[in-house]
Amino acid sequence: MRTFLYSGLGTVLVAGAVLAPGNIATAAESPDISVTNTKAHLDQFQSIATGNGGNRAAGRPGYKASADWVKAKLDAAGYTTTLQSFPTWAGTSYNVIAEWPHGDANHVVMAGSHLDSVSAGPGINDNGSGSAGVLETALAYAASGQTPRNRLRFGFWGAEELGLVGSRYYVNNLPTAERDKLKLYLNFDMIASPNPGYFVYDDNPAGNGARDDLVAYFTQQNVQTEFIDVQGRSDHAAFRALGIPTAGTFAGAEETKTSAQAAKWGGTAGQAFDRCYHRSCDTISNLDLTSLDHQIDAIGHMIWTYTQKDYTAS
Ligand SMILES: [Zn+2]
Repeated sequence: MRTFLYSGLGTVLVAGAVLAPGNIATAAESPDISVTNTKAHLDQFQSIATGNGGNRAAGRPGYKASADWVKAKLDAAGYTTTLQSFPTWAGTSYNVIAEWPHGDANHVVMAGSHLDSVSAGPGINDNGSGSAGVLETALAYAASGQTPRNRLRFGFWGAEELGLVGSRYYVNNLPTAERDKLKLYLNFDMIASPNPGYFVYDDNPAGNGARDDLVAYFTQQNVQTEFIDVQGRSDHAAFRALGIPTAGTFAGAEETKTSAQAAKWGGTAGQAFDRCYHRSCDTISNLDLTSLDHQIDAIGHMIWTYTQKDYTAS
């Protein structure tokens, strides 16, 4: 999650193109994404940061090491991967794109997370958490033996903290025909905040179907949610600006948890959701594993569901 500054993309509204909400007849069986495996990926990100000057920031060796490691895991699982390089003011950075080479390539369901940290620290909650969760979901899908109806693609974005640079680069360099195939983009940025909330993005002008499916999933798990307008603070911005349906979740950053929020989610009122947001203390100790567990199962639910969604009628 980037610091909330002006973002031109945040104000883009797309007219028309309202998707029918939640038009999935029956949700696919939801997987239990392993919190143990996800935590192990986070241990790896911490170890990469520790071995590379304490961060995984764009243009620094800890970022490239993170990207190489994620790509190798996906390659080994059978994904078709690309390391996409692009320029930033801090030097060359990279997106890791992974596609499961099965399913209808004309209907692409995508999930992503930013893989870079700020330079102040290792970025384990922001956004090792989202990256580890998306990675583990991708690995679980590959191992599941499912036959996908649609094409599944994952993006691990570089240089988000420098202004959503990687995701914008990816979207801007997609040919129009490829953009048209993107049916959904799901974003996961900070999903294990130590004083967690359960926020669902409510900033998608192309329809609220995926937002509503996320809320329904959390409700079924007895987790209450609140809507949040994230807009230009994370990587779905470039997708939503093109009119592609987006959704995502967030466990909170520098904002203070209210007493009403503490009453429904536990934790400490009057304290930030993540007191280590963009600080050196965003380490492997800066995680709430219960939040992580709920969140990764929500990612799994959405991937399993939307990979089977019938887009041929629309
Ligand atoms: Zn951030």
